[in-house]
Amino acid sequence: MIRFDIVSQGEELVSGSTVDTNSGWICQKLKERGFTAGRITVVGDELDEIRDALSEAAGRSRVVICTGGLGPTSDDLTTEAAGHAFDRPLAEDPTALAQVEERYLARNRPMPPANRKQAILPAGASLLENLWGTAPGYRLDVTTAAEPCHLYFLPGVPSEMKRMFEAHVLPDLASRFQLPPKRTLLFRCVGLAESEAAQRMASLVQPGVVVGYRANLPEIHVKLHLDPGVDEKPLIADTLERLGDYVFTVGGGPLAEVVGKRLEARGETVATAESCTAGRIGADITSVAGASAWYVGGAVVYANAEKVRQCGVEQTLLDAHGAVSEPVARALAEGIRTRTGATWGLSVTGIAGPGGGSAEKPVGTVHIAVAGPSGTVHRKIHVPFDRTRNLQMTTALALDLLRRQLG
Ligand code: AMP
Ligand code: MG
Repeated sequence: MIRFDIVSQGEELVSGSTVDTNSGWICQKLKERGFTAGRITVVGDELDEIRDALSEAAGRSRVVICTGGLGPTSDDLTTEAAGHAFDRPLAEDPTALAQVEERYLARNRPMPPANRKQAILPAGASLLENLWGTAPGYRLDVTTAAEPCHLYFLPGVPSEMKRMFEAHVLPDLASRFQLPPKRTLLFRCVGLAESEAAQRMASLVQPGVVVGYRANLPEIHVKLHLDPGVDEKPLIADTLERLGDYVFTVGGGPLAEVVGKRLEARGETVATAESCTAGRIGADITSVAGASAWYVGGAVVYANAEKVRQCGVEQTLLDAHGAVSEPVARALAEGIRTRTGATWGLSVTGIAGPGGGSAEKPVGTVHIAVAGPSGTVHRKIHVPFDRTRNLQMTTALALDLLRRQLG
């Protein structure tokens, strides 16, 4: 087991103005490659705090990734802190200086004197060139109480950090540690609560298999992390049995893509009639490249008059049942299907909230219908969130009802 630590440095991270996205990204990359996550430490611009964070991380992990604080200003203190933590004098590195100067030359600008600071490294550091920004990174190998530790210092700007990580850190780690990569099976579900998913999976206990859950609304993700040698075939079958047809893909893309590709394979098309979601379903469908092969178009029919005009819904139906009702949802789906000639008509009508509810039709009541070659199916749902998430969930559940008709 090779354990790693992350130190995220930046006053903006501890003051709450910037969210530390670097460490999550790094954790994913390293866990995929078989490393074991230890701790993530977030520190501000206090020299002593950074020094302690670095020496503690190096004391408990074989690998430490530190991001941030390599800039030219006086509050960029990571290198100074590393010098203190590992008792390394700091000195200007001529190659690093040439690289910083080169970055400015490439932009046809003289290097400001302050940037000279970025070429100052702790003794013994190995330079990691930054082709995407000015701050060079570096690796520092130290020996703590028990074991050697490799520390990688990278800039905080996420785009630069990621490129440096992929260009330098991953190959360097691969040359030092030969780890069997973890395999992960991802089951993407929609319409199933996280707690329900966990309950269904609870009795799946097997050595070498760790089950993880994540609510990534409107989806729920169930992940199986497999040790080397674990056979995935029976596990996939078992998991699909437990989660049932809430799973719309194992390891594949988003719901709109799964639905789109299935329509494409069948040579079929869909058209939408959207009341409360007002185009979100169409937008989701067309977020997939190539959607013109399966999406005909749609009507945003917010007002009752538009339901009549664009989808041919009978006014008497609206008067008798109201716009948010099963008969109107069915009529919308059938109307848009007939008028466009699409294979499938998909409709939603509902109350997204926070206002507009009643005792009979509370906020969150939504009717979805799918009209197709062999009739129309309908589903009434209740979405319990705020307006934005209600619309997001409705969009997903509408696409899911269509998916379920596609076999
Ligand atoms: P620095 O390399 O410390 O000068 O950081 C430059 C900028 O990168 C900061 O102003 C932040 O906007 C961003 N940044 C630094 N650290 C992180 C982090 N851990 N996660 C996300 N963004 C960061
Ligand atoms: Mg900073």
